[in-house]
Amino acid sequence: MKFSDMKYERPELDAIKRQYIEITRQFPDCSTASEQYDLILQHEKLMSNFQSMGTIAYIRNSINTVDPFYEKEIAFFDSNNPVFEESVQNFYKVIVASKFRPELEQKTGKLFFKNLEISMRSFSPAVIDLKKKENALVTEYEKLLASAKIEFSGETLNLSEIQKYQISSDRPTRKAAWEKTAGFFIENSKRLDEIYDELVQNRTSQAKILGYNNYVQLGYDRLGRNCYGPDEVKQFRDQVAKDLVPVITEIKKSQAKRLGLPDLKFYDDKSLFPDGNPNPKGDRQALVNQAQKMYRQMNPLTGEFFDFMVKNELFDLDSKKGKAGGGYCTEIPDYRSPFIFSNFNGTAGDVEVLTHEAGHAFASYLSQSMPILELRTPTMDAAETHSMSMELFSRKWDPLFFEEQTDKFYLYQLEEAINFIPYGCLVDEFQTTMYEKPNLSPDERKHVWKELEAKYRPWINFDHLPFFEDGGGYQRQHHIYSFPLYYIDYCLAQTAALEFWIASEKDWDESFSRYLTFVKAGGSKTYEELVKAAGLEYPMDQGCVKHMSEPIMDWFRRHA
Ligand SMILES: [Zn+2]
Repeated sequence: MKFSDMKYERPELDAIKRQYIEITRQFPDCSTASEQYDLILQHEKLMSNFQSMGTIAYIRNSINTVDPFYEKEIAFFDSNNPVFEESVQNFYKVIVASKFRPELEQKTGKLFFKNLEISMRSFSPAVIDLKKKENALVTEYEKLLASAKIEFSGETLNLSEIQKYQISSDRPTRKAAWEKTAGFFIENSKRLDEIYDELVQNRTSQAKILGYNNYVQLGYDRLGRNCYGPDEVKQFRDQVAKDLVPVITEIKKSQAKRLGLPDLKFYDDKSLFPDGNPNPKGDRQALVNQAQKMYRQMNPLTGEFFDFMVKNELFDLDSKKGKAGGGYCTEIPDYRSPFIFSNFNGTAGDVEVLTHEAGHAFASYLSQSMPILELRTPTMDAAETHSMSMELFSRKWDPLFFEEQTDKFYLYQLEEAINFIPYGCLVDEFQTTMYEKPNLSPDERKHVWKELEAKYRPWINFDHLPFFEDGGGYQRQHHIYSFPLYYIDYCLAQTAALEFWIASEKDWDESFSRYLTFVKAGGSKTYEELVKAAGLEYPMDQGCVKHMSEPIMDWFRRHA
């Protein structure tokens, strides 16, 4: 069905609550496992419908933020999601206590129960007030950053608008843009320090109430991580520092050479080419047509998937007045449909939407027939592997988008991919340290960031750039405030994606068939199981990062 024909109806919350009370009451009294399984399926139907309506409202609101109808519907979901969530949590409690658990596990898999237990232990009504306060602090931080009005070259810019000057091909311009950005943060530094401190204290209190030592494990549980803990993540980061950072230091030297500079300063780091980044050819329709051609050639399943997206108009890609910013992929389970939202702007980012977001959408499309909603989507590390791998598998078709700039895009894409990993580890180690030592002062926090910069990005010379030189850089990384401990997921996903890419350079078909194995499993396996079942090295295992880095360095020696 076309997205525009999908029917929206506000869920009747009272009726839903009554149905949940009913199935929650019946569940313990069932005399067979299959009766209990039927009740689980009833819950799946209720949840699928509630989520579908919420998602339709969300998409239509982001396409036209001034439409008063969907604005009201969004407000309805914002205030009623917790009510719905409470009904679901109560039902989960009786599932976990089932007297037929072994029989049910045969139908759902053991992971379903494990995931429910993780989600239950990380929440209690006793932390609701703290959570409300936490949300308010996050909102204050986001608003403070969104309020930035930076005067630059005759324009008034916000923090995302000034980014184009931060990567300007004119060096004095990008330096000045960073100085102005630093000025905004220095002006607001006191409140930014306080907000972060209050967030760390708040999250630590929640952890104590729930019986954790500190926030680290609680944060992992809230992200649903079900196969590794902070120690394994540390093993991964150590490998990155030891085996990948030296490789990137080499790559950075060739970047400096390309830019005609003796060495790179902080404000040069994101400038990969003296004449700017590669851009795709053609407008939105042309790019979508090329993407359709690509997915049809790639594999029968990707062809079927993308044709479905096009036929049912499951995209909204053009920038329009009144439309929300950014981009995302989501899904509408009742209609078995993914949906991709974006704001095309003529940069390589447009093609990345058609590969990255489409990678998410492809995984969603393949999982629609799985009966248990909770097992369709894996943890974020694996979900981002779906999308980041698709970006790299599609390299074969990049000439369709970039024509004579294809080689430039190849270099750009691989450098961006690899450069990200140490930065992501920096963000992760910083956050972990903050929750392990919640009582550091603002200056001590900045000192930690500064030291970690030197560990993970030793090639960066701050050139006395205020604020950034002093370790303030963490304050512009939204995730650190808004999505605690979420970030290493991208590094793990990028590592697995690069493993697929290395294999695809030898035998594309063989590598892609292992990728299909990974994607088709949805969330029925843990990240570790998915990686291993696809024949990849597990990033936490000693040697994985080294084995990934060597062929990449090789590629750069031949191409950079
Ligand atoms: Zn993604």
